[in-house]
Amino acid sequence: MKKKILYIDMDGVVADFAAGVNLLDASIQMGDEYFESNESQVDAIVAKHPHIFRTLPLIKGAKEAVIKLSEYYEVYFLSTAMWNCPESFTDKRLWLEETFGELAYKRLILTHHKELAIGDYLIDDRTRNGAGQFKGVHIHFGTEKYPNWESILSQITEKRKEIIEVLKNEIIEFVDNNSWASLDIEKSSDTELFFCVGRTDDEEYADSDKSMAIEMLEGITTVFSRRKVDGNYEEIDNVIYFIIRLPQIGL
Ligand SMILES: [Mg+2]
Repeated sequence: MKKKILYIDMDGVVADFAAGVNLLDASIQMGDEYFESNESQVDAIVAKHPHIFRTLPLIKGAKEAVIKLSEYYEVYFLSTAMWNCPESFTDKRLWLEETFGELAYKRLILTHHKELAIGDYLIDDRTRNGAGQFKGVHIHFGTEKYPNWESILSQITEKRKEIIEVLKNEIIEFVDNNSWASLDIEKSSDTELFFCVGRTDDEEYADSDKSMAIEMLEGITTVFSRRKVDGNYEEIDNVIYFIIRLPQIGL
């Protein structure tokens, strides 16, 4: 099943530009508003320290969140480098590799036109450079709804729990209505639910029930009628294994 595409901005979302400036000059206390309203001062700082983008500290919780989100989504970094600081193009690429390693490999898009990126979600702390016109959902990082990474992850987790409950109930109902003999939930993880539904009699109905099950879950899951035995998949007639993959669930 295809994962949805999630773009993540860099400055103010995974890389702490304000803290980076403060490391260079403790007298400058920089907040997000400062970035917005003091663009010329930002330009002056960057002109003086053109490699600042290589040295930015991580935003709290960003690394764990990106690792977690990469399980559920195709994650790309969608950032704007500074046109007048060509070093920033290279340094952002190097910072990503040093911070996220393989997770970021060839997943960096640098543009002043974020609205042109095709995808499902964009986590961005600003509306500048096309972020506000993004065609998917703009998750506005740093706002009341999504103040930090912890809040984003907990909202996704809650949403997933709700959906998992609905799916479980649907499958239990299906089993009840179709006289399946047993239901075991074999495994349940963040990204996958694994149900085993077994029938001990009425084998002649197995095929039609199997079709119904596939129909019922079409679009939200993958249904296997095979089980893994000694590392190999084996066709079986009277048992359905539902493997429900959940990476497509969004915010
Ligand atoms: Mg930003």
